[in-house]
Formats: sequence, structure tokens, C-alpha cells
Amino acid sequence: MAGLLVVVSGPSGVGKGTILNRLLQERGDCTFSISATTRPPRPGEVHGQHYHFLDHDTFTHWVEQGRFLEWNQVHDQFYGTPRDYVAQQRASGQHVLLDVDVQGGLQVMQAEPDHLSVFIAPPDLETLKHRLVSRGTETVEQVQKRLLTARVELRSLEQYRYVVVNHEIKRSVDELNAILTGECLRTERLRQSGKLPRFVETHGESGVG
Ligand code: 5GP
Repeated sequence: MAGLLVVVSGPSGVGKGTILNRLLQERGDCTFSISATTRPPRPGEVHGQHYHFLDHDTFTHWVEQGRFLEWNQVHDQFYGTPRDYVAQQRASGQHVLLDVDVQGGLQVMQAEPDHLSVFIAPPDLETLKHRLVSRGTETVEQVQKRLLTARVELRSLEQYRYVVVNHEIKRSVDELNAILTGECLRTERLRQSGKLPRFVETHGESGVG
């Protein structure tokens, strides 16, 4: 059976990256979709592992070639999900996790009706601000911009099928894990993958007595 397409969104600094990484460690049936971006790498980020870091012209070229499942401009930079990798992984049965902004998430939900969507929310805006500032990877101006975007993104929370409020990483990972497990156990999916138990009785096998 094809793997699930799991759209995960939530404001910058909410802990999406950490939660998704832990989930990947816990489940062998998931893979992360590595996005392309025009944003420069942060210290420690590796090309092809955290992102495909592209220059502006290459990104535009990929857009023209239809290589993105979705793409969007986020905080002055471009981000996109390469289509081929997602398709290949799903075809091999892996669930593919997309960490995308809300606009990108909504694009995917429209383009791919068979998706699972999860919004990761902070307990409150103060906590989010504190996490963004203490992460120390953005300037004060960038933090302000991300908080503004967060306010807008949080308004779209109800467009997602599930919401995980990130009070604590372990609990959020457990919740996301439970969402995936539940989705895999849906009757329809079990039927599609030929895993639905069949209890058809043959003549004379009522099993009683
Ligand atoms: P960051 O620069 O902090 O890594 O990511 C900034 C924002 O871009 C995050 O909200 C993240 O979800 C979003 N993002 C990362 N990859 C993609 C992508 O492929 N498509 C879209 N639309 N957003 C992305």
C-alpha cells in the first residue's frame, strides 16, 4: 500500500523539527521530505540533509519544470517540496512527512486529496516568543517577523485534521505517533493494503460448540 502523505505545519519555533526528528527515530516506516530553499544554510545545516540549498535561478528553474509538489515564499525566501522524492517514497510504502508552512500545506491538501494533516501549535504566544528568542538563530527583527507570521498561521489551525499542542516534546511525539497509527488502522486503508482480516465462514464451520 502507498505510504501516507503527512502534512505538518505550525509556526516557526514551535518545535516541529525536533518532534519530526524524534518521530523518525521511533518509526522505521516514515521518511522526511527534504525541501529545497533559497535561504542560506544555518550553522550545522548540511546540503541534501536539512535542505537542498538552491540559488534563486535554480529554484525558479525547478518551479518552471514543475518539480515541486508545492512551493511558497516564506519570510523573504522560497521553499518547495520536490515532487519526485515524495512519490517514490510513498510508492515504496514509506509515510512521507512534510514540514511546510500553512500556504504550502493548503496547496498540498488541495492537490493530493489522500493526505493526513497535523498542525503543531504552541501552548501560547509567549512560549513561542521565548522559544524563538532562546533558539538564537534569528536576529531581533527576524524574530518579530516570525511572530507576526505565527499569528497569521495560527488562524488556519482549524483547516488541519489534527492539532498537537506542544507542551512537551515527548508527549507531542507520542500524540503524532498515535495519529499515524490510528490512520494506518482505518478500515479503508487496511482493505487497500489487503490487511483487513477476513472472517468468512465456509459451509459447516460455524465455530459454535
Ligand atoms: P526555516 O527557515 O526555519 O527552516 O523554515 C521556515 C518555514 O518554512 C517553516 O515554517 C517551514 O515549515 C517552512 N518550510 C520548510 N520547507 C518548506 C517547503 O518545502 N514548503 C513550504 N511551503 N514551506 C516550507
